[in-house]
Amino acid sequence: MQDIDDEMKKPLLKHLVEITAHREHSRLAVSVISALYQLTNVQAIRMLEIFTMRDEHYVQEKMVIRDGAVHTIDDHTSEDLKEPLASFPAMMACIRNHLNEYLETADDGSHVLWLPVWLHGKMNSCVEIRSDRPFEQQIMDVIHGIFHVYCNYQSLLDYSERDALTGLFNRKTFDEQFTRYAFAIAPAESHALDKDDRRHDGEVIDEPKGHWLAVVDIDHFKQVNDRYGHLYGDEVLILMANILRASFRSHDRIFRFGGEEFVILLRATTLTDARKIFDRFRQNVQEYDFPQVGKVTVSLGFVGISRETPVVILGHADQALYHAKKSGRNRICFYEELVDSGVLTSGITTNDTVEFF
Ligand code: GH3
Ligand code: MG
Ligand code: MG
Repeated sequence: MQDIDDEMKKPLLKHLVEITAHREHSRLAVSVISALYQLTNVQAIRMLEIFTMRDEHYVQEKMVIRDGAVHTIDDHTSEDLKEPLASFPAMMACIRNHLNEYLETADDGSHVLWLPVWLHGKMNSCVEIRSDRPFEQQIMDVIHGIFHVYCNYQSLLDYSERDALTGLFNRKTFDEQFTRYAFAIAPAESHALDKDDRRHDGEVIDEPKGHWLAVVDIDHFKQVNDRYGHLYGDEVLILMANILRASFRSHDRIFRFGGEEFVILLRATTLTDARKIFDRFRQNVQEYDFPQVGKVTVSLGFVGISRETPVVILGHADQALYHAKKSGRNRICFYEELVDSGVLTSGITTNDTVEFF
């Protein structure tokens, strides 16, 4: 929480300079709604995010300014705060009619302005501005100006974070986000299951939730290029990105890591579910008919996100991937399991890598 009434009133240009200084979405959003709040004298402003989970659309408050204070809602612990999109008729109307704004008078007599943020043809969030007086034209001009700067800047930022061929997040974004988020979301212990959690029949009671990192590599991709040419190879990469997007939830993260390698960050799932989700993706690829090329398969190695450094975590997932390749491809391997069963030795530790690099 941060108090903004204490800040000196800043002129418009100073706000614009601050807004465009950010390279990170939530900081950008905070500076935008702070600027709107200070320049318009309204009662409250909220930033609402839209996301999809198991084919249902939800809305979640990301930040709010009320009575001069900014509250930011944490990304990783707020799953329970989501509300169905259907409880926001104004946002539904914006989506249905592709609107750029929607003005309404609420039941309590306050005036509410809804400003949807469109990205790649989809409404990905919405700014809600509440005022107890009607919006004057001069205020509307300021709101529109700031909001359009925000939309333009947001789409530039988004462009720089993505890979041009597939539209997935790029390697640079992975490096930035993983270092920032891995430690915030990593539990203190590794994800190897506590043996005490098992019943005698092997069934797991109260299996803990964790976060998982997977590295995916397309099998024999060189042959696709050699046989059908690079254009068809590129087409396979684009279709692979679509299968990836369809196989994971919107709050998981998918990156194109290199040529035909992808990285997935899977959030808040048990090991049993993570295994199912990764294997379902592998199966989705196997069942897909790629035009001209036909069947393509992938191998995947995954690891629990622990307090190790990103280099070590990635290295472990890579070792599991290498094992999946060695044991026949078109399969998923879990690093900790390979170590437990003695197939892999847990060689890399933070100390080793520090020396090594
Ligand atoms: P493996 O099953 O062992 O992974 O075999 P592979 O043939 O896939 O081997 P590897 O992963 O080493 O090969 C990667 C190939 O991917 C090499 C390169 O020709 C191709 N490739 C990398 N980036 C691109 C790209 O952007 N477009 C296309 N068409 N091909 C790419
Ligand atoms: Mg490769
Ligand atoms: Mg490959």
